[in-house]
Amino acid sequence: MAELKLHSPLQYVKGVGPKKAAFLQTMGIQSVKDILFYFPRSYLDRTSVTDIAKLSPDSYVTIIGRVKSHGMLYGRKKRYEVILQDDTGAITLTWFHGIRYWEKLFKKNQVYACSGLVGSYFGMQMVHPDMERLEDESDKMIHAGRIIPVYPQTAELSKAGLNSKMMRRITTFIFENLTEPIPDFLPKEVLQTTRLLSLDQALKTIHYPDNREEIEKSRKRLSFDELLNFQYMVFLRKERKKTITKTHTYKPISKTYEKFKKELPFSLTPAQEKALNEILSDLNKKFPMSRMLQGDVGCGKTVVAILAALFASQSNHQVAFMAPTEILAEQHFRNWNSLLEKIGVSSRLLTSSQKAAEKKKTAELCQTGEVDILFGTHALIYDSINFKQLGLVIIDEQHRFGVEQRSRLCDKGENPDLLVMTATPIPRTLALTLYGDLEISTIDTLPKGRQPIKTVWRTGDVREKVYKYILDDVKKGGQTYIVYPLIEKSEMTELENVEDAYKRLSSSTFKNISVGMVHGKIKPKERDDIIRNFFEGSINVLMATTVIEVGLDNPNATIMVIEHAERFGLAQLHQLRGRIGRGKKKSTLVAIAHPPLTEIATQRLEYFISTTDGFKISEADLHLRGPGEFFGLRQSGEMRFQNVRLGEDSELLEHSRILLEKLFQKKNELDSAYKYLHTYLSEKIDIDTVELKGA
Ligand code: ADP
Ligand code: MG
Repeated sequence: MAELKLHSPLQYVKGVGPKKAAFLQTMGIQSVKDILFYFPRSYLDRTSVTDIAKLSPDSYVTIIGRVKSHGMLYGRKKRYEVILQDDTGAITLTWFHGIRYWEKLFKKNQVYACSGLVGSYFGMQMVHPDMERLEDESDKMIHAGRIIPVYPQTAELSKAGLNSKMMRRITTFIFENLTEPIPDFLPKEVLQTTRLLSLDQALKTIHYPDNREEIEKSRKRLSFDELLNFQYMVFLRKERKKTITKTHTYKPISKTYEKFKKELPFSLTPAQEKALNEILSDLNKKFPMSRMLQGDVGCGKTVVAILAALFASQSNHQVAFMAPTEILAEQHFRNWNSLLEKIGVSSRLLTSSQKAAEKKKTAELCQTGEVDILFGTHALIYDSINFKQLGLVIIDEQHRFGVEQRSRLCDKGENPDLLVMTATPIPRTLALTLYGDLEISTIDTLPKGRQPIKTVWRTGDVREKVYKYILDDVKKGGQTYIVYPLIEKSEMTELENVEDAYKRLSSSTFKNISVGMVHGKIKPKERDDIIRNFFEGSINVLMATTVIEVGLDNPNATIMVIEHAERFGLAQLHQLRGRIGRGKKKSTLVAIAHPPLTEIATQRLEYFISTTDGFKISEADLHLRGPGEFFGLRQSGEMRFQNVRLGEDSELLEHSRILLEKLFQKKNELDSAYKYLHTYLSEKIDIDTVELKGA
């Protein structure tokens, strides 16, 4: 047999025939090295085996038990359930995805080791646990107290003969037979200062750790590599931006602009003025602006953006102003359209739910340059929308959009200036990482006269009292939001839903006041009317799902009730809270939690009521949540990290940034180890191209 090298094709690995090799190839895995980077998704660990009777919610455990029964359940959502039993009790295991795989797998009385997060839903439950049938090799391993890697499991993988057990055989074979060490692209010096494992060690132990600490150490090393690669792209984008020059220029501030600004119902806060100046000075530079305007909910970012838009329009540059929801885009348009009209600046609204004729009209007016400011949703990205002279792109709640969407909008102009906004104040190190290619302006103070929002959390029994408080407030002209997690009844959960609550409350407790309802299934026209009525005051209580989460601005609404507050993440709770406390009146938020509450949920609620500072909230959110779930970042698909845990890896972030700064600044005076790293990052050379490695 030929020697097994990193670049050896997989057919040299025992057990991998042409069929398996072909399937692995479709997953981008071709060589021995590629398999080493195919990581276990979890581990079965004898040391954490727990009796079923002793399980408590929110703990991550391994249990060993026998299949008592199994079968498909048909509710609103189809699911596969297995009842697993040990000597002390039984637990329900549930799968919503990959049902085809699981339903073929189980037989009564089979013994499984199973690990995952314990939840409670009519008794103890695990959703999508990792399973391993015990009987043979894994049985021996787990009884010998080994930690066994569990590789991703799907119907397709198992059909190709690549279940977790097979993957284990492959990786074991590789580690036993590999005849060369895995080279490292990190200079020794870096390994020393960061105290990270070498790549060789990290890869070995991520597959076959001796204990939990080793897994963590390998994860750290692999996380560092991911952060380095990610940040390299950010650095590169930044470098490239410096080489682009724009063709459009701006005229000095016009009288119209000055008059408009002076006639605003309020004067800007110093923090707003500062941000605005930074933006205007960027616009006057040779290369396109890339600036992020950040500031806590309610700090007044919109008006700053509008002034920037107005400034651009005064030089006949068009502005695209994109928001993530129709409700928000409509609000911006409604708030500013007529004011702008008065000074001769034309604006229009574009959303996907508008009538075709209206959209067509907008597209025409935009193309001919008759629209100065185009507000809208992601509909702005449509191919049918073209500008005559797009000078400035503004993106509100930018974390809701992907890099791709942002750049597609920018591509509609010739290197337009870009202003993105976010109410997500993120910790500095993280900002530098994610947005290192953007300049950052921060509005760090709220407009004067705002009263702190009183926030409390309670369990269900306060509801009647709260409703009475709302009714009293309505008598005094106040308005309220009540937020629910679901639109309608679901067989899957017992959660409150807005439709039933609306029916119930509008015909009982709230029958003498005006109640409105908005959620994602209400027709846009109707929704727009309801929101408008709420803004104009003819609706007293707005019952809603989280469609109201971003941007809505009704300063007269001062009470918010959040049902099932235990279900929402910290950042989301904070965003929701941002809908109140926007005027001069005192605001109150009542978060109603429905027991049983997990410890994490309780912690989250306690933290939520302890501060209204978005910065602190974001720090805590980073630590309380799981990997990659930080704010909207997960949804936006901006980061697909495998091993990074942003909450725990801030030191690694810092280290990788410093390393890259060195690489970029001293490009021409690097010694060979660093040069090698630079080549590795820039050309994505393979780790097994040893010749290049130099010293
Ligand atoms: P966000 O930063 O969350 O987008 P908005 O731009 O929606 O906040 O502003 C929140 C509210 O504060 C709005 O009603 C806005 O009119 C008001 N506002 C903005 N700037 C000031 C200011 N300087 N003084 C008083 N009110 C202001
Ligand atoms: Mg906003």
